[in-house]
Amino acid sequence: MNTWLEQLRNVINSIDRLKDFVNLTPEEEEALRTLNTTWGTTPYFTSLMDRDDPNCPIRKQVIPSLQERRNRFGMSDFLIWKENRATGEKRPDSIARHYHDRIAFTVIDLCAIYCRHCFRKEVVIDRDLKLRLDVDEGLEWIREHVEIRDVLITGGDPFILPDDKIEYIVRKLREIPHIEMIRFGTRTPIVLPHRVDEGLMKVLGGYHRVPIWVNIQCNHPKEITEMTAKAVYNLLSCGINVGNQSVLLKGINDDTATFRKLHQRLLSIRVRPYYLFYCGAAPGIDHFRTPVEKGSELIRDAIRGHTTGLAQPMYVVSTNIGKIPLMSNYYFVEKTETEHRFINHKGQSTVLPIIPE
Ligand SMILES: *Cc1c(COP(=O)(O)O)cnc(C)c1O
Ligand code: SF4
Repeated sequence: MNTWLEQLRNVINSIDRLKDFVNLTPEEEEALRTLNTTWGTTPYFTSLMDRDDPNCPIRKQVIPSLQERRNRFGMSDFLIWKENRATGEKRPDSIARHYHDRIAFTVIDLCAIYCRHCFRKEVVIDRDLKLRLDVDEGLEWIREHVEIRDVLITGGDPFILPDDKIEYIVRKLREIPHIEMIRFGTRTPIVLPHRVDEGLMKVLGGYHRVPIWVNIQCNHPKEITEMTAKAVYNLLSCGINVGNQSVLLKGINDDTATFRKLHQRLLSIRVRPYYLFYCGAAPGIDHFRTPVEKGSELIRDAIRGHTTGLAQPMYVVSTNIGKIPLMSNYYFVEKTETEHRFINHKGQSTVLPIIPE
């Protein structure tokens, strides 16, 4: 199973096949049997699971849990709210817009794996939100909106599309004079690193006026393998910038040791941390959600000053009015008539004079 298509033809989405890789707990088995939910993963990603530990961070992201039945803090119609779909200007279903100069362009509702914490689960897992994902209709809308300079291609996972479809979307976008950059959000370098093969490199590679940026989603250092490192290197060697958008997940990456290691390991495979997302209010994912302050605290206690600033993502909460950055205000401890006082990660303090306007 050395090619991405072989991996996808052999996705693990039955209890029997999963049992070849892990010893399921009775709870996991009950969840798999009784929850009526889309689930599945690649053989590659499944092979990273711990056979005996149900707390394995890979297992928890992939195997459904009975806790998905609970929904105290999840919003029904979360994605409609988050993507502003009920209000505002009329747009094709494939276009989500929060900002003046950029949009998210959803081109597919399938993924290589179905993450239990997915904030778009109403579309890709529960599938009760039906969107018409017509690429040409979206391209036409982008062509007509000259203020759009940045298109973020998302899904599902857009790298699940065949090479010729990806080539078509990229080519059509590059033909639009007001497009200055193209971005992809994909988990494939993590869950299906075979995807970044010669064919895809041919489609994406080379020098162009309109560059491509890729953001992957890696949530735990265990997800980082030699194959992922190679996939990232292949993207970079094509001239593509690679960043990471992780999701803050309770019991998976919300302790300082794991959190620091995750960001250090990302840099060690040439990936620059971009965003850390607060886990959104999608229905049935309460068990992954922390208090909102947790992300800022982790950056304060695990990253800032403790390791290079290159390792620091921006912590954001995604809302109906866009992404809101949340920084810890820990460093800023006092303001007098004449000076500000700050502390560093060791608790040492220093002052700066207040300069009048
Ligand atoms: C996240 C997002 C973007 C991209 O935001 P950046 O901060 O530029 O990465 C664009 N449009 C929508 C609707 C988004 O949710
Ligand atoms: S790959 Fe992305 S869109 Fe697909 S299930 Fe995971 S988080 Fe959701």
